[in-house]
Amino acid sequence: MFNMYTLLRENIKKLKPYSSARDEFQGEASVYLDANENPYENGINRYPDPLQQELKVQIGHLKDVLPERIFLGNGSDEAIDLLFRAFCEPGTDNVVAMKPTYGMYKVCADINNVTYKEVLLKEDYSLDVDGILNSLDNHTKIVFLCSPNNPTGNSLAQVDVLHILDCFDGLVVIDEAYIDFSTQNSFTDRLNNYPNLVVLQTFSKAWGMAGARLGMAFASKEIIQILNSIKYPYNINVLTQDTVLDRLATKDKVEQQVKEIIAEREKLITELSALSFVDMVYPTEANFVLVRVNNPVEIYKYLMNRGVIVRDRSKVALCEGCLRITVGTDEDNRILIEALKELKAF
Ligand SMILES: *Cc1c(COP(=O)(O)O)cnc(C)c1O
Repeated sequence: MFNMYTLLRENIKKLKPYSSARDEFQGEASVYLDANENPYENGINRYPDPLQQELKVQIGHLKDVLPERIFLGNGSDEAIDLLFRAFCEPGTDNVVAMKPTYGMYKVCADINNVTYKEVLLKEDYSLDVDGILNSLDNHTKIVFLCSPNNPTGNSLAQVDVLHILDCFDGLVVIDEAYIDFSTQNSFTDRLNNYPNLVVLQTFSKAWGMAGARLGMAFASKEIIQILNSIKYPYNINVLTQDTVLDRLATKDKVEQQVKEIIAEREKLITELSALSFVDMVYPTEANFVLVRVNNPVEIYKYLMNRGVIVRDRSKVALCEGCLRITVGTDEDNRILIEALKELKAF
């Protein structure tokens, strides 16, 4: 049986969180003399809402999740780091993740001195469910899954993820940074059934706000309360909260952009597949394409000299020979393909 409190580190169980001025007085007043702010209005002279309540109401509508089940962080990376700090005892506990995947889980594990156990995906990039279940032990606190996965681009099979959620009494984190480009349903639908589920999403990709730094974690109310109690009090600044609220009001425009990116992705897949030096274009449900070529490093450098920067993933396990290419605008993609066609002429 899953019990969040038995998973928590002892020091976090005992923690008395910092109480800010904005925690101690909530509501509307006419004169604020409690936070040592400069009283002259300039749009950012006041501290932000530490719990971002207005933003969570809007995100809650959008995602069909209760505000009390939403944590907002300085990118999803903040949520990842806080999960380590809340649940993983340095030097004792471990986490399990698939390989290859997003690099931040390992970096956060290393920073927190938590053992990071990796289980290779299968050749077709599907989850090795037995491999993951076999790697769990009494000190495993979190399993990290990423779907659609970075850098492979595929979504994990829902049955595989559910099987891990059913079998493991620790936290299962599903990173859905690319969910808006995929045909799959979000696992946020399953929050009612799985108290051990944490779903991560972000405003950095589909929402076009990587510069604003806003990540979301969806989980049980109890897990969200823990994350809130250990975060920096004012982790999301006023400018980000206001900018994201404005952006949420233009949801239709963002959805249109996502459609265009998906259409461009399909065009790109067709054009890349036609190139003689391309061995394989992997199926993708994200806003990037993983492409296996016969000479990745030379092509990477050639493109760089042409002013086109892609990601060399050829040293990554199971991605030998691969470049990861983000889907750009129609113009960006045309420049990329023109450059590659000229390379073929050599
Ligand atoms: C890009 C990306 C993120 C986003 O991180 P932010 O800190 O929210 O910008 C998270 N997870 C994966 C797998 C990513 O590729």
